[in-house]
Amino acid sequence: MAITQEVLQSAGENLNPYEIVQSQIETAAALLGLERGVVEILKKPKRVMYVSFPVKMDDGSVRVFEGYRSQHNDAIGPTKGGIRFHPDVTLDEVKALSMWMTFKCGVVSLPYGGGKGGVVCDPHDFSKAEVERISRGFMEAIAEIVGPEKDIPAPDVYTNPQIMGWMMDTYSRIKGAYSPGVITGKPLIIGGSKGRSEATARGCVYTIEEALKDAGKPLQNATVAIQGFGNAGRIAADLLSGLGCKIVAVSDSKGALYNPAGLDLAEVERLKDTSTILDYDARYRLQNPEELLELDVDILVPAALENVITRKNAHKIKARIIAEAANGPTTPDADKVLHQNGVLVIPDILANAGGVTVSYFEWVQNLMNYYWSEQEVNQKLRDVMTQSYQAVRSIANEYKTDLRTAAYMISLKRIAEAMRARGWV
Ligand code: GLU
Repeated sequence: MAITQEVLQSAGENLNPYEIVQSQIETAAALLGLERGVVEILKKPKRVMYVSFPVKMDDGSVRVFEGYRSQHNDAIGPTKGGIRFHPDVTLDEVKALSMWMTFKCGVVSLPYGGGKGGVVCDPHDFSKAEVERISRGFMEAIAEIVGPEKDIPAPDVYTNPQIMGWMMDTYSRIKGAYSPGVITGKPLIIGGSKGRSEATARGCVYTIEEALKDAGKPLQNATVAIQGFGNAGRIAADLLSGLGCKIVAVSDSKGALYNPAGLDLAEVERLKDTSTILDYDARYRLQNPEELLELDVDILVPAALENVITRKNAHKIKARIIAEAANGPTTPDADKVLHQNGVLVIPDILANAGGVTVSYFEWVQNLMNYYWSEQEVNQKLRDVMTQSYQAVRSIANEYKTDLRTAAYMISLKRIAEAMRARGWV
């Protein structure tokens, strides 16, 4: 077989997210000169639970679902992170996602370590009642290891406030006491926080604003491509368009749209809610949805899943700024290429930290039983995101490194200090 450029480029790239996050830790730890013990502790999660649980389907049959909860590190506080419902969930993915949560909480200085959960299922395949039973079944299975002072889940890919509400209810029944602080991202009426649903996207937009300010470029008419039209991508599109950006491309799991003159966002949203975005004017459909990532735009927002920017396509990326609303969209090999090519990558652990930041606000409000206005939440979020961005940028300048490595450095330093203070190392 001829060795084509394509084969060379895909050969040997490690796409295992667990190994990717381990290599990210090594890179930043080496720059900081961290002691080996710290690195070894952080390279593995502290606790991982595997569960299988039966769920009665609407037709009377029984299906057994599998899921995981990984608690990476609790040196700074209880572990925190979402629960994803997705058919491709694996143990290594959940472990990696829990590790990214530790470093995410560290970058924005939250008093949490990282956790993550996943159930192997596609909720779109089930009725609402079935999804409720899956949600309650999973919470029942992990109830002994979660709790407001132990590990606090939240929404992630394909989960939502209603699912958080069911899980909170199940946990509260098990404990025999109203326990809103066990989970965040709940509906407002049962202890959710104002501003939580928009927080991931809003935080991401605040970091984009900072990056543009740095580059001396205006938001007005900046062109944007967004991969993924879920909670993060869709709301980011709305917010950026409200700030005067031009949303030229969006995609979801079914396909992608591109109009260099700008998409009619209201129409895309209407179609997303009623049929499929592919019912948009057919002239603007991208034949190959992966091309969305390679469009000539000012800002690219990957807002879906891991490993979409790899060795295969990194050299083709034309965006000036990549703001990672998703977790783990860029591989380490791709990072090197992007850095060389002068693409500014706002890393996931910073760009999407707005979600967990407002989850923290929600948890604080739950513990106090005192609730804040949306304006107060958003202002506090803006402060956290802009200060964190500036701290990361100044470390990146000081060490002449990329923003991802700088973000890890800030986080690692903090966590290492906590581990030393506890006497672990
Ligand atoms: N799933 C979100 C994330 O990956 C939010 C986690 C949380 O709010 O705890 O950051």
